[in-house]
This record gives sequence, C-alpha cells and structure tokens, in this order.
Amino acid sequence: MEGKLTFLGTGTSMGVPTLGCRCTVCTSSDPRDRRLRPSVLLRWMAPDENSAQSGPVERLVVIDTGPDFREQALRIGLTRLDAVFYTHAHADHILGLDDLRPLSFMAYRESGPIPLYASAETAEVVKRIYDYTFSPQATYPNRARVQLEALGKSTRVHGVEFLRVPVMHGEMKIAGFRFGRAAYLTDVSAIPESSFPLLEGLDHLVLSALRHKPHPTHATVEQALGWARRIGARHTWFTHIAHELGHEETNRALPEGVRLAYDGLEIPVELDAVTAPARDL
Ligand SMILES: [Zn+2]
Ligand SMILES: [Zn+2]
Repeated sequence: MEGKLTFLGTGTSMGVPTLGCRCTVCTSSDPRDRRLRPSVLLRWMAPDENSAQSGPVERLVVIDTGPDFREQALRIGLTRLDAVFYTHAHADHILGLDDLRPLSFMAYRESGPIPLYASAETAEVVKRIYDYTFSPQATYPNRARVQLEALGKSTRVHGVEFLRVPVMHGEMKIAGFRFGRAAYLTDVSAIPESSFPLLEGLDHLVLSALRHKPHPTHATVEQALGWARRIGARHTWFTHIAHELGHEETNRALPEGVRLAYDGLEIPVELDAVTAPARDL
C-alpha cells in the first residue's frame, strides 16, 4: 500500500521569512525559501470499514497543527481529516488546533470527534490552552469536535500503524513517528540509543536540522547528518529549518541522499511494510 507524505511546512518556530528580517534567505525569490511552521500530512487509500460495497476511502492524518495550519490546509485543499498526532506542545506545533473546527464538525457528523493523539505531557498543555474546548464544564457551542487520545507505543489509524519514536528536545522527551518505511522526527536535539532500532530499514527519514550554529534544543545540520548516516535511510529530508539556511546553497553542500525539504514537497511512502515491533522504551 502506497501513501503520500506532503510537507505542509518546513520552517522553524518563527517561520521563514522571519518577521523584521532582511537577510538573503528572508528576501529570497526562491519559493523553497518560504517556510511555514513544521507539519506533514500523510494520506492513503484504505478499504471502507463501514461498507464492503463501496470502494476504498482516502484517509488523512496530520502530524502537528501549528499556527499556519489553516493556510496549509487551504493550500492543499484539505477538506477532511481522520486524525492528528502531536509531537509536543510548543506553540509552533499546536497553535492551529482551533482551526480544526470546521473539519471537525464534518467529521463529527460522519463518524465522531477527530482523535488527537498526544502524550500525557502534551495533552496537559493542550487542555490548559484550549480549556474552552476540553474542559468538562466547557459550554462554548462552537468548540472543536476533537478528542484527546493517549499516545501509546503504537497507534493504528485505518490500517496504518504509527509507531512512537521517542526523541529529546532539550530536556523534554517528545514524540517522533514511524509509519511504514518512513519516519518523521522534528525538534530533535538528541536521539536516545533505544530509538535507533525503531528506525531501521527506512526509505525516507525526515529529521529536523535548524542551522549550522549550535542551539540548546535543536540539532545543527552537522549533528543531523551524523544521525542520518547512522540511520542510513535511502533518503533523508531536513525540516524545521531556520533562515540561516538557503535552500539551493545548502542543498549543494549536502551529501547524496540528504536534502532540505520544502513546503509542498510530496514523497511516496510504502505503508505496507511491517513496522518494527513495539518495544519497551
Ligand atoms: Zn518546533
Ligand atoms: Zn532572515
């Protein structure tokens, strides 16, 4: 079964162009230097579980809904959504949650609230920020029809298994995800030894690489290259990119098989491959 992974945003938390900046990347005319906040969409065709007669149904899952979610959804014509996975609760990953509302009203009529898979730490922050959505006392009638679901080691969504891949973001342990022969690891500052076995046999590895200069909670290009080599995916795509990295110039210096991703990039993902078994991490 082949799915398609679309990069909805490949920028760092401030986005590129960065407000007020006149650097060569922020003023570049190359569309690949314009980066919305980081998020990806995975879509695939799955048999309709409710009706054996009808043909396959398109299933759509996004990882993170940042402040640009609405714009990203409009750009690709997203009209429905089956689930959201959250990596962690920083603003650039969760502040588009409220824009799920119109999609959630439709989903609710069809099949119920949209499940939002999040770790206990992430869910706690999301519930606090969106109190009017999640509080049992909430009376706001137009709140998103969404439901926080505990993120386990492995989550199955319409026949596709999403394996949680723990990574470090500074002091925080956050979630990366593997699905079939691809993995999405953003906001990484370190990869625990126990996560490497979950990343074997990848066709596509998406990995965050902020810039060249060290940062306390994000990997540099050089660090990310080290992990990319060790993991050995056929293709590695860097994301969560700051304005220090021009697309064309940076790509020219990267080794074969490693490239900067860009907003709108689509890659095919083999989803039938059995993902690595869940382990005690
Ligand atoms: Zn981030
Ligand atoms: Zn700039």
